[in-house]
Amino acid sequence: EDEVHIIGSVLDLRDKPVSKVMTPIQDVFTLTMDDILDKETVDKILFHGYSRIPICAPEDQSNFFGMLLVKQLITYDVEDALPVRCFNLGILPETSPDTSCLDILNFFQEGKSHLALLSSNPGGVGGALGVITLEDVIEELIGEEIIDE
Ligand code: ADP
Repeated sequence: EDEVHIIGSVLDLRDKPVSKVMTPIQDVFTLTMDDILDKETVDKILFHGYSRIPICAPEDQSNFFGMLLVKQLITYDVEDALPVRCFNLGILPETSPDTSCLDILNFFQEGKSHLALLSSNPGGVGGALGVITLEDVIEELIGEEIIDE
């Protein structure tokens, strides 16, 4: 029965827009370029548990510049209290919410990023609507939630 469901989901991927499976922007844990990575902020990052954090402008929280890869913090000393802007941010690819799940899967397969920002104004300023990751697409394929370890 699982196999039948998965085969059906594969066929649906082409017609399903990423907006149907994204995490809406109001639920996304983000930081701004000016946030200071002191103990309090790093504790907050660990509490949320995400491996990638989209970084926005302090004055415009719908304008994103890149992502902070949390694994970079393994060697970071919180006593340094550096602002986010001092870190090498990962590229945060942007696409329209109408992009199909099949197209985003192909994009993720290329390996540049496994998280994309969905925006009403991709490549421009503002308009952030949500994020999508490889996990969201896989969940859609298998029809079940993947529980994090
Ligand atoms: P992680 O590796 O951080 O656990 P996954 O790629 O496994 O992230 O995605 C798990 C779920 O969390 C997905 O639904 C994805 O949309 C969502 N997600 C990923 N990063 C964030 C974030 N910074 N804030 C909120 N949700 C996120």
